[in-house]
Amino acid sequence: MRSMKRLILLVVSFVVLSAGQGLAGIMAGAAQRDITPPVGFEIQHYFRQSVGVHDSLFARCLYLKDDEQNAVAIVSLDLIMGGFDACDYVREQILQKTGIKHSLIAFSHSHSSAALGAHNHTKVKNDTDSKWNNRTIETIVEVVKEAQQRAEPVKLRAGRSNAQVGFNRRLVNPKSGAVYMGVNRKGPVVPWVNVLVADSIKSSKPIAVLFEHAAHPVIVPHTSKLTSADFPGAAVERIQAELGKEVIALFGQGCAGNINGFPLRSTHEKADHAGHNLGDAVIKAIAGSKPVESKTLSIKQAHSEIPSRALPGREQWQKMAEANAGDAGRMRQLNRMKWLMDQGKQPPARRFDVYAVMLGNDWCLTTMPHEMFCQYELWIDKNAPFRHTMTFAFTNGYEGYIANDAALKMGANGGYEAASLPNWGGQVWTRHLGPPAVGCEQIIKDTLMSLWPQGKGLNASPNAGRFKLKYNKQGVHGSVREIKVTENGERVIFDITDEFGIGRGSINLGVGKWPAKVLVRMHLAGLEGFEVSVDDKKIAKQSLNIGRYDDEGSKLKGRYFKTSKDGDLEKRIAGYYEIEIPQEALVRGVKIINLKWVDFYR
Ligand SMILES: [Zn+2]
Repeated sequence: MRSMKRLILLVVSFVVLSAGQGLAGIMAGAAQRDITPPVGFEIQHYFRQSVGVHDSLFARCLYLKDDEQNAVAIVSLDLIMGGFDACDYVREQILQKTGIKHSLIAFSHSHSSAALGAHNHTKVKNDTDSKWNNRTIETIVEVVKEAQQRAEPVKLRAGRSNAQVGFNRRLVNPKSGAVYMGVNRKGPVVPWVNVLVADSIKSSKPIAVLFEHAAHPVIVPHTSKLTSADFPGAAVERIQAELGKEVIALFGQGCAGNINGFPLRSTHEKADHAGHNLGDAVIKAIAGSKPVESKTLSIKQAHSEIPSRALPGREQWQKMAEANAGDAGRMRQLNRMKWLMDQGKQPPARRFDVYAVMLGNDWCLTTMPHEMFCQYELWIDKNAPFRHTMTFAFTNGYEGYIANDAALKMGANGGYEAASLPNWGGQVWTRHLGPPAVGCEQIIKDTLMSLWPQGKGLNASPNAGRFKLKYNKQGVHGSVREIKVTENGERVIFDITDEFGIGRGSINLGVGKWPAKVLVRMHLAGLEGFEVSVDDKKIAKQSLNIGRYDDEGSKLKGRYFKTSKDGDLEKRIAGYYEIEIPQEALVRGVKIINLKWVDFYR
């Protein structure tokens, strides 16, 4: 009897203990491996053949997990870039071999390294049978696995310190008005370094430091034939010299599309020096860092497309073809344009996949693909509703430069990163045949805002991008479907027109709160079916107040908009159904309203 009691006691205390262990809070693990390509391989960019190694290239991973099994693998690579094909493949491998759904593959953009391709699709000359490329992919997966296995309870700290490795590289020629590359000491940069530190609860010592700064790693000269991680590699060395070799320091490249490291293409020593200074700034930021209190990791992703600038008109094209007849490279791009024009098509859009790793309101890492202009990082920092922000570009895919609207509006004068024809800037040479279209800035901001929780809101135009609408614009037989948003003060109206009559759509709150009155107006002849759900929870029909109004806004009796015969033409009374979405349904946190409707006519 007595032993039985003891057994029960033991069982009870075991249950309590394991429940305690289950609430460990944030867990973190980190690991790193060497991925330096063999001597004799090609260095990018500019292209040259390596004769040795100045400093090794690494793949590093910081793995974070919370009690709810939300987890992310943040991978930092000392490589110049990886396209969407490579990143998709690596992320799929990570998912298959570790079960981690969310991974961020971030490239440092070192111009003395190599590019990563998908499996069997090496981007490096002399990499026979993609051996180095495939091995590197395997190594990345191993690093992630090791970081995951090493995960232990940690406390996180976030901080920032002043730092500036480079300068804005866009200057305007006052005579021609055209942008050229140089050192623009007055131009915008991201003048800080952001850090996140994971301290082991067991040892009270740091296990990993994630740090981010925005500058092209181009201090190592293009004439050097030694492989190097450039200044980010030297910064890691400095951090490890201070904190210990066992601490994994991971660099993330910020929105450096228009910032060059300084002094440009000088010496390895100068790159080491710049890295040393950046490392010092990281140590300072760590010293002043503040605890991240939130224990909940939230990882979100959003996707959109960045449209490319429209092709030149036929007349302009003809002039350009005549002027460039002797230039095979230019003619190839011009012929691609013609091929699209003949089919009435426009160049493809750029994929834009963005991610946010958030810890409550304390901290957010935002990642974007491509070479984003620094203005985007500054905008995120100003507007994202978090105490600490950190931003990576060059992550999970790459398709060239993404300038801001101001640069894109300069047209042919926009310089290497943004110019359009008749100027042969860098982006005209891509498969997109030109830079992104003017207006892409709003698409980018809308996409980023869709990641954030309701927050402090935006200082910019209050209506811009508040609601993201999703619906099929074209119904059956080319009939038109449209949702219009009108917001003023405390009220928002979504006007829905649907020629075919059966449809669905969703309204996604991008930023801020739902207004006090949320009205849906259906411009249909009859409303046979109507369904509303908020965040996948259906609202009962009896709690929806559906009214019928004429175009003057006067309430009508009855159910349908009567039709009267006028000769053979059916005439319909102009008006709409109005449904108010109950405020109780739009309580804190609700992001999406889903609508389904069926018209009277079918
Ligand atoms: Zn670049």
